[in-house]
Amino acid sequence: MKIKWPSAPKVLTGLLVVLLPVLAYMQYRWVGQVSEGERERMQRNLETAAEQFRADFDGEFGRAIRELTVGTTTAREGTSANYSQRYTSWLNTADHPQVVADVYLVDAVDEQLRLRRWNNGIHVFEPSLWPEELDRHRGDFQKAYVEFKAQRESGRQVRAAFSGEESLVVAPLQNFEFPRVGPQVVQTAAPMFGYTVIQLDESYLRGQMIPSLAERHFTERGGEMYRVAVIVDDDSKRVLYRSSPEATTDLNNADITAALFSPPRGGRRGRGPSPQIAEEPPGRWRLMVQHQSGSLDAAVGTIRRRNLAISSGVLLLLTFAVVMLAATSRRAEKLAQQQMEFVAGVSHELRTPVAVIRSAAENLSSGVVSGDRVKRYGQMLEGESRRLGDMVERVLQYAGIESGFNTAARVPLAPMEIIESAVESALPLVGPGEVTVHREIAPDLPPVIGDATALRSAVQNLVANAVKYGGRDRWVGVRAQRVRERRRDEVRITVSDHGPGIPAADLPHIFEPFYRGADAIERQIHGHGLGLSLVRRIVVAHGGQVTVATRPGAGTSFTITLPAAAPDTTASPVATEMRVGAHS
Ligand code: ADP
Repeated sequence: MKIKWPSAPKVLTGLLVVLLPVLAYMQYRWVGQVSEGERERMQRNLETAAEQFRADFDGEFGRAIRELTVGTTTAREGTSANYSQRYTSWLNTADHPQVVADVYLVDAVDEQLRLRRWNNGIHVFEPSLWPEELDRHRGDFQKAYVEFKAQRESGRQVRAAFSGEESLVVAPLQNFEFPRVGPQVVQTAAPMFGYTVIQLDESYLRGQMIPSLAERHFTERGGEMYRVAVIVDDDSKRVLYRSSPEATTDLNNADITAALFSPPRGGRRGRGPSPQIAEEPPGRWRLMVQHQSGSLDAAVGTIRRRNLAISSGVLLLLTFAVVMLAATSRRAEKLAQQQMEFVAGVSHELRTPVAVIRSAAENLSSGVVSGDRVKRYGQMLEGESRRLGDMVERVLQYAGIESGFNTAARVPLAPMEIIESAVESALPLVGPGEVTVHREIAPDLPPVIGDATALRSAVQNLVANAVKYGGRDRWVGVRAQRVRERRRDEVRITVSDHGPGIPAADLPHIFEPFYRGADAIERQIHGHGLGLSLVRRIVVAHGGQVTVATRPGAGTSFTITLPAAAPDTTASPVATEMRVGAHS
């Protein structure tokens, strides 16, 4: 027994039907993993960026404090080459020297607090009046002085007294000197009371320094990616900077936070608003960063959704392609089969008339036939050769129609003449017997532009079908009228019969090439299944359409609608001499 293997497209389709759900599931999981990886990558990048921001920010202030803190010699003299040199080198190398507005020196002379200000023009600390901001803390300095005199530890931190909102950085006098060579630290002769006070330019800090750092570390090329805010660390209501009005100042909403201007200690990294933040030493200010889509999770969610959409799109496309492939291959298979059947059918149909013609010709040539029978043989030869010719004509027409009609053959035609010649040529094809043709042809039919032979053949097919399938009374109705549709004139030609109608199962297929109704096959009605598909192709090629109306037991009507020629077309209809076999 021969095993019939399924065709390659069928195997492929089956394979894909099984594989697609597996692929979809794997893809879903894979997209999840990719998103998780993406989230971790973004988190790491953000942590690095925050760390770098903090390092730059703190580094800038750290250097300013280191370089600008006054030592005892400078405090005593009011100037020193060393301090001058330190100041100038800081000024030349700092990224943001403008953030320091002034450097003051607080010490005590004759039991009185004294304030001096660094004049960078002449490199000397000059006596100064107490500016308001500093004056507010005079009491603190006084207290520190009293404690200093009471032999307490020198250099008490006054910093605690200053809130982050204020733009003062206070450092005790350097009672130590670091010689350029050697590891030892040298203490100067006697500890001395005093503080260096660095006054910051807050508007520069807010308007220049923080924004430029924020842009450097948190802006991706091509647009803002993170919202950045800097607040006073112990009071989130006091905002120093916001990259946009939506930038969060709420610890719980930030993707990462970092203490700025904090004593250098470890353990400051945290993942979003996690408990680790609590362990972080407080700074003077706090950096808060939030992804512009609300949070890193939201951003990753968007990426995940986008990836899912893209990959499901690809899968859908694949599914669609497979379905199309299956449908196309099915159609191709069906068509190939129909064509095989057609070739077999045509060969069979051709064989009969050829055999009849050959035997009749043999009889005639051998002189077996004489008298009256010669005439009958002649008629038989004529009928068979006409059938043969008709079939050859159709097959050729079907094969040739793909390449389109000869546009040069398109001339204005009188519909009446097309109809009459079609009826006349159809009747001999439907065998012996009277046919009643009922005509209702409007006298004012406008001309149509087209190929006379093709249009005649279309109408002829309908008339022949009406007789073939129209039942016993062999009645055919042909109606032609002029209609106005969508602001253009049309010619409508309807061919009707009183037959049994077309079964619903056949109706969707009758215009398909090689399709024959079950009844036609069963009753062995002569035909090849090409007639209606030819009619439709011809009509569509003429810019028209063909429709069918059928009722079981009450007959069938096919209607061809053709656009009328434009009124200015010079109508020179082809004149045809007509003789019609039967009239109503
Ligand atoms: P053919 O006549 O060679 O079978 P057609 O393409 O002309 O091919 O017609 C296709 C099928 O449509 C026919 O086999 C028949 O079943 C059905 N058919 C066509 N015209 C009629 C009609 N007037 N009445 C009933 N059935 C029809």
